[in-house]
Formats: sequence, structure tokens, C-alpha cells
Amino acid sequence: MITAQDVGGVHIKYLYHCRRQLWLYLRGIRPESLNASVQLGEAVHDTSYNRNSPVDLGAARLDFLDGRHWVHEVKSSARPTEADEAQGRHYCHRLRNLGIDVKGAVLHYPKTRRIFRYPYTPEGAELAEADIAEVLTVASSSASPDRLSNSRCRGCSFTDYCWTE
Ligand code: SF4
Repeated sequence: MITAQDVGGVHIKYLYHCRRQLWLYLRGIRPESLNASVQLGEAVHDTSYNRNSPVDLGAARLDFLDGRHWVHEVKSSARPTEADEAQGRHYCHRLRNLGIDVKGAVLHYPKTRRIFRYPYTPEGAELAEADIAEVLTVASSSASPDRLSNSRCRGCSFTDYCWTE
């Protein structure tokens, strides 16, 4: 069973996108197309910020931490989402718990050349803790959460699994 220490950025992202997706992922279900989207994310990262090294926090792996203690994440999507913000907040929280005076998260969207900065706050810390608790709640559920509406599943790598009768 997953513990609070095991909760990583992918879990947080899926929590915000779709709880069913998180539940499936926690049970080791990895559609082939998920690998393709991971490869796309890696390619965007490699061609955008190849001078910086990833920071491995065990369960979570962030793109890089700058000298002023801002977490940077490079996204393959065009637009920011609540899930992206939550993921950045999660990394900040992990680093704070390790004693690093992290300032916040900077999310980069190379496709649209946009950058968003999210300072880490006490409210953010509470939200990050609540997100971890929610991931554990989904993990402990014996039944898979309901599907989202079909229109919200567009592009999800689990579509075949969820919608093929
Ligand atoms: S296909 Fe839809 S319901 Fe299934 S995991 Fe993806 S978003 Fe969730």
C-alpha cells in the first residue's frame, strides 16, 4: 500500500485530472499511449532546458531547482492547469519538508512560450498536505471511481481501458 512518503508528482497530477486515472495508475495499469506522452514530455524537456539537472526526491522528480530556490517544471501542454499548479506545489512542499527554503514553482510552457510563477505560501502547504491525504484515500478505495464524462476524457491515455465495452 502506498504511504504519504510515496506520493509523487504523477499521483498529484492524476488526482486533479481524474480520480479513476489515479486509481488505475496506483494499481499498475499503464496504457501504451501513456509511455508516448511521457516520451513527449521528456523530449520537450530535453530540447528546452538541457543545461539543468533534474532533482530526484525519491517518489517525486522535479525538472530543476534554481539558485534562488524556485522549482522549475517544463510542461509539454500548451496551457496551465490546476493539476500543473498542484504538482508544482507538491514539489515545493517536499523540499520544504527536507529543510530547503523553497520560494515557489515556476511552470514553463515552451509550446506557447509562457511562464507562470506560483509562490509557495502557508495556504499552499495546507493544500499540498490535503492533496497527499486525498491520494491516499483514492488508493485505499476498493472500487474504481466513476468515469468522467466522455468529453473530458479526450486525450487521456486510459480511454481504451475506460470506454471499450
Ligand atoms: S478515460 Fe476518462 S475516466 Fe478514464 S481515466 Fe481517463 S479521464 Fe478518467
